[in-house]
Amino acid sequence: MTEPNKTKKVFFHTLGCKLNFAETSYLGKMLIEKGYEKTKEEKQADIYIINTCSVTDVADHKCRQAVAHLHRQNPDARIIVTGCYAQLKPDEIIKLPGVDLVLGINEKLDIDKYVEEIESGNENHIQHTETQDIKDFYPSRSYDDRTRCFLKVQDGCDYYCTYCTIPYARGKSRSGSIEDIIKETHKAVEEGAKEVVITGVNIGDFGRGHGVKFIDLIKELEKTDGIDRYRISSIEPNLLSDEIIEFVSKSDKFAPHFHIPLQSGSNDVLKLMGRRYKRELFQHKIELIKQMIPNAFIGVDVIVGTRGETPEFFEDSKNFIESLPISQLHVFSYSERAGTKALQIPYIVSADEKKRRSAELHEISERKIKDFYQSHQGQKATVLWENTNKNGYMFGFTENYIRVTTPYDKTLVNTFQAVELGEFSDDKILSLKVKP
Ligand code: SF4
Repeated sequence: MTEPNKTKKVFFHTLGCKLNFAETSYLGKMLIEKGYEKTKEEKQADIYIINTCSVTDVADHKCRQAVAHLHRQNPDARIIVTGCYAQLKPDEIIKLPGVDLVLGINEKLDIDKYVEEIESGNENHIQHTETQDIKDFYPSRSYDDRTRCFLKVQDGCDYYCTYCTIPYARGKSRSGSIEDIIKETHKAVEEGAKEVVITGVNIGDFGRGHGVKFIDLIKELEKTDGIDRYRISSIEPNLLSDEIIEFVSKSDKFAPHFHIPLQSGSNDVLKLMGRRYKRELFQHKIELIKQMIPNAFIGVDVIVGTRGETPEFFEDSKNFIESLPISQLHVFSYSERAGTKALQIPYIVSADEKKRRSAELHEISERKIKDFYQSHQGQKATVLWENTNKNGYMFGFTENYIRVTTPYDKTLVNTFQAVELGEFSDDKILSLKVKP
């Protein structure tokens, strides 16, 4: 029997969210175990794997661009496309010049088998499970500079917000067992992770089918030795229970950092979006966080220009957002997605108006984050240093997600350091200098 593909090199291109990056790490590990080699050199690759996103039209476009670009780099290399766009539009992708294989979300799990198949000549085809039949969950984790590990604990979503295609791509909400996630966390510790970011599509829905809830998971993680810092990634406001907030306020390990999607500060628009809360609930969560954890960082997602967002609704939303004691906004412009219910809403916001609204919210965000940073000058904090060297400076984050900078020192990389926070850095990257 011949040695299978010992020297074949695989180049990964990942688009979209941290979950996709975590999954790409998992795929890479599978292929390395089968004797493939990962490469960062595009031209040297024998196989390109593109893990796609489909959250907006722009994401779809980036995938098509990546296919064209990589096909030019090495026209003889195989191209495999997987991820959300591949799950939603496999027929569109297989027609792109150079694409050998389109793998759906479920089929990603068996990437090693499919790579071997195309290696032996079975090319230009689609392997795809209908989204409603996707039931498997596989844990995965990724490294960002080997400092922070993104740990996938949940996948899929049952919410069907009217503007969102994710449930059509990722399928039903499902998650790993607490035991399996603890095992993954131990592996992350062995590989050197210092901070774990708990990730998923709708992480607050963790535990469905296992008889447990997200709070049970974080209580167990707190007891796991070896990880000093956890962050909870984006969590739906209606699933961020008061109990979770109280737990974080008392925890030694869970960072005082929340990322909560509001999407609109107008109750009328929230209703059109099919969101499962009113702004009053959101306000309660923010006030509770600030009351229990005054120094908490709160990042908030907002979408501007959704169908039905009249100028009055936008003003109402903007004023509500302005009034909240939050730290930063992540502003997204609404993008029309085929097959979503939002397309039935007749009122359309023009592209220019979306831009204008986005600029207004960005301006609010810049003010809020600057205020947040300034209010921390002179305070003590613990920084986890990362391995970036930008013009002789390194960066890290405090427990409450303030970016901190100091002259680069290799010995600090991937370590925690107690510091005193100083002034704003001159650099364009928003950060506070460590007081010498
Ligand atoms: S909660 Fe809504 S916006 Fe978030 S993934 Fe689910 S359907 Fe999409």
